[in-house]
Amino acid sequence: MGQKLSCGVHHENGLFSAVEDGEFELVEAMIEEDPSVLEQTSGHGRLSALHLAAANGRIEILSMLLDRSVNPDILNRYKQTPLMLAVMHGKISCAEILIRAGANVLMFDSLRRRTCLHYAAYYGHSDCLKAILLAAHSSPVADSWGFARFVNIRDRNGATPLHLAARQRRPECVHILLDNGALVCASTGGYGYPGSTPLHFAARCGSLDCVRILLAWGADRFLLDSSGRIPYTVALKHKHRACAALLNPSSAEPLVWPSPLKFISELCPEAKALLEKALLEANREREKTLLKQTIDTFPSPLHSEIGDDDNASEVTDVELCCICFDQVCTIEVRPCGHQMCAHCSLALCCHKKPDPNSPFPSAPLCPFCRSMIIQLVVAENNLSIGAEAEPESSPAKPRRSRKSNFSEGSSSFKGLSAMGSFGKIGGRSSGKIAAECNEEVDKP
Ligand SMILES: [Zn+2]
Ligand SMILES: [Zn+2]
Repeated sequence: MGQKLSCGVHHENGLFSAVEDGEFELVEAMIEEDPSVLEQTSGHGRLSALHLAAANGRIEILSMLLDRSVNPDILNRYKQTPLMLAVMHGKISCAEILIRAGANVLMFDSLRRRTCLHYAAYYGHSDCLKAILLAAHSSPVADSWGFARFVNIRDRNGATPLHLAARQRRPECVHILLDNGALVCASTGGYGYPGSTPLHFAARCGSLDCVRILLAWGADRFLLDSSGRIPYTVALKHKHRACAALLNPSSAEPLVWPSPLKFISELCPEAKALLEKALLEANREREKTLLKQTIDTFPSPLHSEIGDDDNASEVTDVELCCICFDQVCTIEVRPCGHQMCAHCSLALCCHKKPDPNSPFPSAPLCPFCRSMIIQLVVAENNLSIGAEAEPESSPAKPRRSRKSNFSEGSSSFKGLSAMGSFGKIGGRSSGKIAAECNEEVDKP
């Protein structure tokens, strides 16, 4: 923690060096002696003691200053708040303390008119990003601005936090932002003018993981930037061949997270993790084919990170999904209670393209009993699967027999397994989350 953030500025005042170095007693003594030192600022950037404490991760000093009612939103020359600096340097504890002390998450700096959310996304500190989003949910911001507007807040150049995360190759931040309602096809161009989407930015920097996530959230491969280029052209121009392969408009459309479906937005975290993993796996299969044509090796760390399907084949004493007879049943449909694997659940949900004539996207039906799917939960007998399947632990729990699946639904699930190949699912999707229900129908 010895790293100083004074940028070589020689402090005219001993207080600032002491804050940077985390010399708590010294700082306290100096303030006791002359409380007015707190009104002084350091260097050209006019940093306050609170800024320096936040940026250097000096938790104790930060708390002490806040206890002495220093304004948590005190500004430096560039109208940066201590929270922005804490987030920029990934000092999550300091960020949390500041938020708890009432720091405003909706302040704009004067450099590029960015908020602390932009800083978190740009510098890739996902823990800080989460803390800010959590704060925005409960703070006055949610009432005054609305949470959705806050997540999609634009800087002076029209960039949303999602743009910055994509541009700086921060897949984790990209994912968190999308999960919190960031618009996947947001454009930097205002007032109807064309601009860049996050997909253009990801294509430009060649972040395969960002491209992958954005596509899975429905990013449109056909949108033009202000120079009239689609993301594919941008990737080619910067010689990112793997990204270009996925962005090629003539290549198969990836499986897209069925975000407009009500029960998908209300998934419990475990079921969500299972389904997201299934989505990644399905898209990875598709990518393999695409990338094989472009490059010999598969350059993504995701590839090795996510376990292979061996889990399913090694497990002998578990129910296999009665749709694909390949994967283990991990998802239970409510209210009917039928079970299937995450891949098939997802295929079922992604398959149904919203009907433009109905105000609500129609919920898919259970393939076994044709009753409406209200909710998806993790199948009880498979609670261990989400946390890297441990087959030894499951036999302890009695499993419900799924034999009934087979007899009841033999006619309907055949239709579903026919579409088991994920490549067929979905036509061109717009990717605009909010507008997706108005998109074209894609009748099978
Ligand atoms: Zn299945
Ligand atoms: Zn059912």
